[in-house]
Amino acid sequence: MSNSEKEKNEVQSLKEKLFYQRKHAAMRLSEEELQACQEFCEEYKFFMNTAKTEREINTFMTDFLQKQGYQPFHSGMTLHAGDKVYLNNRGKSVIMATIGKKDIREGVRICAAHIDSPRLDLKQHPLYESQEMAYFKTHYYGGIKKYQWTTVPLSLHGVIIRKDGSTLTVRIGEEEGDPIFYITDLLPHLADEQMRRSAPQIIKGEELNLVIGSMPFKAEKGNDLVKLAVMKLLNEKYNITEEDFLSAELEAVPAYPAKDVGFDRSFIGAYGHDDKVCAYPAFRASLDVPTPEHTSVIVLTDKEETGSDGNTGLKSSYLKYFLYDLAECFGANGRTVISASKCLSADVNAGFDPTFPDVLEKNNCAYLNHGVCVTKFTGARGKSGTSDASAEFAGEIRKILDENHVIWQTGELGRVDLGGGGTVAAYIANLNIDTIDIGVPVLSMHAPYELVAKTDIWAAYRAFKVFLES
Ligand code: MN
Ligand code: MN
Repeated sequence: MSNSEKEKNEVQSLKEKLFYQRKHAAMRLSEEELQACQEFCEEYKFFMNTAKTEREINTFMTDFLQKQGYQPFHSGMTLHAGDKVYLNNRGKSVIMATIGKKDIREGVRICAAHIDSPRLDLKQHPLYESQEMAYFKTHYYGGIKKYQWTTVPLSLHGVIIRKDGSTLTVRIGEEEGDPIFYITDLLPHLADEQMRRSAPQIIKGEELNLVIGSMPFKAEKGNDLVKLAVMKLLNEKYNITEEDFLSAELEAVPAYPAKDVGFDRSFIGAYGHDDKVCAYPAFRASLDVPTPEHTSVIVLTDKEETGSDGNTGLKSSYLKYFLYDLAECFGANGRTVISASKCLSADVNAGFDPTFPDVLEKNNCAYLNHGVCVTKFTGARGKSGTSDASAEFAGEIRKILDENHVIWQTGELGRVDLGGGGTVAAYIANLNIDTIDIGVPVLSMHAPYELVAKTDIWAAYRAFKVFLES
């Protein structure tokens, strides 16, 4: 070996020893694990096509948990290691817990994810007719690029509480043979003026009107006959009148099913990966750790996309009350239990998109197929709004993930001062709980159809599982 070759080898081995190495998950996963990843993703797609909104996910999960022998939680229960309980918060949030072997005073292991996703909510007086077409007015929910939500098939989900107090559950546009709903956009031929609007205004909020019908009630004369025909149809089918929309929560979401993307099927495209792609793996991880050391608590919450306010969002006290009540079941002080607890705030992060490389800083962003992304801090403009996990807790999580060969990376949401975003981490950390964000990198976040890599979903599942086992 020549001197220059020797030097080259030395540099190479020193770099391998001292530098942080990035590696694609495919280079690191065994054949068995890749197979397990595929199977897990099939189940994830089934879930995505079955439950699209926070209410549907709540129903899906509570039904499943009941069948698995989980008991509805109430204060004062007698509980032992391995016992399983769940709490249904108003049909929109769920907590599931498995009692651990250790004393509850040693704290619990929490995974928190949100199950609401950006969408179009119907207004309280949604129904109107214009030029013999019937529409629903909407008010968008969460941060969206409004123009993306036109000309895509939309389904309608939610509930209507009738005048007599009875509940009508709505899910139209998901089954084969169902009609879907639609928001129009201008043809390019006539869009010159529209295309000169700024991007947030290309489609304005009040232009997100859902087309729902065009056949009039047959009459010699009269106005609003299409509206009347639609209302008659809804009355006959669902026993509702227009007034019943006053006490309804109806959500228009993309009617697309989740599908594999790419010749190699390495991605999944779906509506609402944010944040079902963290919620589902956390839910599954908890099921797969039947007798944990520390009591495991999975919180699947609502309202993250509008800032976590409201009694089903994580700014509310429902998690705190649950933990207090749980502590009391063991004669423990809630404060003691909460302060000793640790939490993974499971939420997606922006993945690096080679088509739009400038918005992220290449050394500090998440890449698809490089594992679950641990985000030490979120926030914007000088980290404002972040709970910023401590180095100690980051170190603890790093150790757990590395020792269990979980593929993970770190990432920051956007380059400094470009934008940013928050998660539920701060609200849990504010309870005096060690909390760090972790989740799957996503492309086209908050679009009607988002993209994630399968190996990252698998890495998320493994991360939650080893954390719950710790
Ligand atoms: Mn989001
Ligand atoms: Mn999210």
